[in-house]
Amino acid sequence: MANIKEIQCIRTRSNGTWVIVKVITDQPGLYGIGSASDQYHAETVVTAVEQGVGPKLIGRNAGHIEDNWQSAFTSGYWRNGSILNTALAGIDMALWDIKGKEAGLPVYQLLGGPCRAAVPCYAHASGSDLVALEDDVRSYMEEGYQVIRCQLGGYGGGGFIDQSDARLSKNAWHKPHFFDDEAYLENIPKMFDYLRSKLGFKPKLTHDVHEHLRPQNAVTLSKLLEPYRLYFLEDVLPPEQIAWFRLIRQQCTTPQAMGELFINPHEWMPLITERLIDFVRVRVSKAAGITQCRKIASLCEWFGINTAWQEGGDNDPVNQVAAMHLDLASWSFGIQEDNHFNAEELDVFPGHAILEGGYLYTNDQSGLGIDINETKAAQLLDIEQTKIPRHMSEDRRLDGTIVRP
Ligand SMILES: [Mg+2]
Repeated sequence: MANIKEIQCIRTRSNGTWVIVKVITDQPGLYGIGSASDQYHAETVVTAVEQGVGPKLIGRNAGHIEDNWQSAFTSGYWRNGSILNTALAGIDMALWDIKGKEAGLPVYQLLGGPCRAAVPCYAHASGSDLVALEDDVRSYMEEGYQVIRCQLGGYGGGGFIDQSDARLSKNAWHKPHFFDDEAYLENIPKMFDYLRSKLGFKPKLTHDVHEHLRPQNAVTLSKLLEPYRLYFLEDVLPPEQIAWFRLIRQQCTTPQAMGELFINPHEWMPLITERLIDFVRVRVSKAAGITQCRKIASLCEWFGINTAWQEGGDNDPVNQVAAMHLDLASWSFGIQEDNHFNAEELDVFPGHAILEGGYLYTNDQSGLGIDINETKAAQLLDIEQTKIPRHMSEDRRLDGTIVRP
């Protein structure tokens, strides 16, 4: 039996936004690691782990994962917040890692064993124009990806109008471009019309709206995209407007993926139990870890919904591995979002997942199978960069109104 002796955080990546939780036990050499990264509030998460949730668990049996999770979940009375979920996830993943190491089994074996040989992933293709996008999609198809996300540039791409074409007020708050729903409704169906005419229906294509549209236009876009038979349309609504999924469902069959901003069961439960979406996309670390996400995956199974755990460029290799273990063991798995790290970053994490030909592969080591080289983690960190405040980029409409991401 191993008891929790110490819980600490290791910050890495050059900007310090990757927070890796290390849970050390009283057994010689036995520890686990988990992901508690946050692109915008890394220091806050560290405080929550080391001074908030962590101290309560010191001395407890590391193997009582469910009990430790439940205890930490309500330890601050208020719960389901983004920061506390992330702190809890880091500890939770580390406890699963420890349990696997104790058992001499990979975590996916503890979760019931594999349902599949490897984990298919979807790639992110983008281009500033249709030809560049088509080229990018083709390069991923050649690499082996069967599902590819298609974007005209970054957040809101395809929906921007330039300052020179904009009818601005005389006191306009100057920005180089403005988001416009009508432009988006015009350009994104054209994008898929072009891609289907060039590529046919063999590649499975998705698109991420990044929550930019007004809800009624989210319904319209879902209808307009129906002929192009998407694998899924992602984040067509912001989390505040999820009731509109009922109207989308009544109007068309475009499959819907939603959830990367979700932190509370009351957000994903109605969408799953009323079958209003097709893929649930919470980030494992933002939904409080493997313990909670395996329950989401089980819930999905009963309602015919699939998982597509969120990754994205700001996530770390430990969260990716945690998602991969869930993917391997969940019958309700649909697709995994891929993620790319540079060689220097991967060097910090021996045992990281291998992404090859559109599939993620595990190394079958016990626990999560991934470790952290703390010397290299410290070398990667640029202290000056960690001092820079980070905020989500901001898009605005013509009159200056903020568009929620
Ligand atoms: Mg998204």
